[in-house]
Amino acid sequence: MEIQAYFKHTIPAIAIAIAFTSSTFVHADNASEKINIYTHRHYDVDQQLFEQFTEATGIEVNVVKAKADQLIERLKSEGEGSPADLLFTVDIGRLHKAKTEGLLQPVDSPILEANIPSHLRDDDNHWFGLTKRARVIVYHKDRVDPSELSSYEALVDPKWQGRLVIRSSGNIYNQSLMASLIAANGAKASLEWAEGVVANMARRPKGNDRDQVKAIAAGLADIAVVNTYYIGLLLNSENPEEVEAGRQVKVFFPNQKDRGTHINVSGVGLTKGAPNAENAIKLIEFLSGPEAQQLFAEANYEYPVLPGVATADTVAQWGTFKEDKVPLSSLGEKNAEAVMLFDHAGWK
Ligand code: FE
Repeated sequence: MEIQAYFKHTIPAIAIAIAFTSSTFVHADNASEKINIYTHRHYDVDQQLFEQFTEATGIEVNVVKAKADQLIERLKSEGEGSPADLLFTVDIGRLHKAKTEGLLQPVDSPILEANIPSHLRDDDNHWFGLTKRARVIVYHKDRVDPSELSSYEALVDPKWQGRLVIRSSGNIYNQSLMASLIAANGAKASLEWAEGVVANMARRPKGNDRDQVKAIAAGLADIAVVNTYYIGLLLNSENPEEVEAGRQVKVFFPNQKDRGTHINVSGVGLTKGAPNAENAIKLIEFLSGPEAQQLFAEANYEYPVLPGVATADTVAQWGTFKEDKVPLSSLGEKNAEAVMLFDHAGWK
């Protein structure tokens, strides 16, 4: 298995020998070796990767799943006694929040520096992006011609009145998109943008990204703003209705003629008091490596952060795109302003 080769450099030879002789022996021998993860990620591929990591290292991975804000509150209330080693989120906004609240510590790892491009990790090494996602426009394949689309900004055009669906402003994906608009156009223009989007909504925001696609398929709307991997998940779903919904829409990468499409990362930070810091860093390094990156790409239709790893076939069909290179940390800094402007705009 390639993972064995990968870990040769980071784990003492004896551990490798133990890990690959007998799996029952591994668990008995490394009973005290564990990592505790607080995660907002809700994708099946993570469990698969944690199991691979345990198989390769004998280190047990315990997972607590909840929304990032709840996990951050839990970290705060547990203080130094927290059992958590890693905080996983689905968006930079929450990692930035955890950093500014003093809940994370820097990780000095040449492997992570080599694997993860600098705009996808924190300048002070408090968090690291592990998968990349683009927040794109999807449109109904027959009712919209792609020549009618151009940018996020152009979604306020009155021609979309009653034809646009997008989830609530409480959602972090939308907050980071709004932060990227503030970074590009300033607060005043971004408030007007949010008001324009609200004016064009086909319905009051409800549901998740997948539900917006289903609304288009059901004829309730013609365009939506969603994260790319949800289209991949719908098209490859075991549920025929989801596949059919995915087939009704096409992906459009906005702002290709200017700053590029808004991207975000799902990422991880080492907690301040991590009781198993060394093992936790090994897991982050494993997740940034070629095998894990490929699995993230194939199983969840995300974009790998490690250069050179191919995307899934479904994702490759959408083509390549120019991404907005605004530092993700600056989007975290603008999160509070984004929330406030959404509120002023009446975006529920
Ligand atoms: Fe998601």
